[in-house]
Amino acid sequence: MIDTAFQKKTAQLKTINRYRELSLPRGLDFSSNDYLGFKDHPALKRAALEAIENGVGLGAGASRLLRGNAPEHEALESFAAQHYGHEAALFFANGFIANYAVFTTLPTRHDVVIYDALVHASVRDGIHAGAAKSIKIPHNDLNAFEDALKRSRDQAQQIYIAVESLYSMDGDIAPLEALYALAQQYGAILIVDEAHSTGVYGDQGKGLCAGLPRDNLIVLHTCGKALGVAGGIITADKSIIDYLINAARPFIYSTAPPPLQAHLALKAIEFCAGTDGDQRRARLQSLCRTAQQEIGGHGTQIIPVILGADEAALMAAQKLQQAGYDIRAIRPPTVPENTARLRLSLNADIRESDLKACLAQIQSLAGR
Ligand code: PMP
Repeated sequence: MIDTAFQKKTAQLKTINRYRELSLPRGLDFSSNDYLGFKDHPALKRAALEAIENGVGLGAGASRLLRGNAPEHEALESFAAQHYGHEAALFFANGFIANYAVFTTLPTRHDVVIYDALVHASVRDGIHAGAAKSIKIPHNDLNAFEDALKRSRDQAQQIYIAVESLYSMDGDIAPLEALYALAQQYGAILIVDEAHSTGVYGDQGKGLCAGLPRDNLIVLHTCGKALGVAGGIITADKSIIDYLINAARPFIYSTAPPPLQAHLALKAIEFCAGTDGDQRRARLQSLCRTAQQEIGGHGTQIIPVILGADEAALMAAQKLQQAGYDIRAIRPPTVPENTARLRLSLNADIRESDLKACLAQIQSLAGR
């Protein structure tokens, strides 16, 4: 009985080209978020082996507030707070749960969250599971953000603005300074998801928020993309981090991330801030410039090639995969209806000649 209900649902997904299945990576990497090639970094592997030999825990054994709090969690958090320039930081197992914890915990039913229409699913899910009213804003539309702030000013105890700094499926950058100025003008707290900027942008890969004042700002850095490992770090004022420790259910009622994971996240941030990180960022930026010249986009490492229909995106991805390029089709609900696309993402290890050959194939497939 149950079987047939789910079989019907998956069959329906197949008829509309929305069925998804797992496949192992094959071909040249034009689709991962390992933007700096840190995932297989020998220095990180050595750090992992040394840590294990020195007794760093593979598991935490309990939640942080019970017996699961390890020196590695605390070392990472104090390093991250200082590195990213905030009073305090809190480590989560991944970026999804970090966002979810923030949006289900901080905004109350007396508050309003104003969020960009393209903000990540983890932010939207947190908002929808949380108690605050919310207002969706057309992507990067500063006038609409301001209208919503004006409308909310008298009704909300606290207004939050939720954006990404570099949008994951479109590759464009939010007007962060203007958003921060608006937030300050209307007494709002700006929450920025730096998932795709951490490690890639800003001095030492500190992200696109690095130049913003820290007041009324909360930032998410993920460790699973350019940093090459896994985790989500919230940086904010100490009062906010203390409150999350006391009230964020995903933090309180979950086994702490492995101490080894926290240790590797710290090492990855350190390596990323050093000369090796600088060289990798420079190589990536050069590839971004080549791609923008050849195919357009916003000059970042994420290049969407919007094809519209799901089937068109699937067919194009299949052809590129057959030619040896690992490029994936991205379909609704990950992106809005009728904007199915190829999402090309660049990493520092791609050879310029491979990039050019791949872009030429994409252009001929997309009829450009
Ligand atoms: N925010 C954004 C913008 C993302 O793209 C992602 C991952 N797709 C996340 C948050 C979640 O981070 P993680 O993969 O560490 O769970």
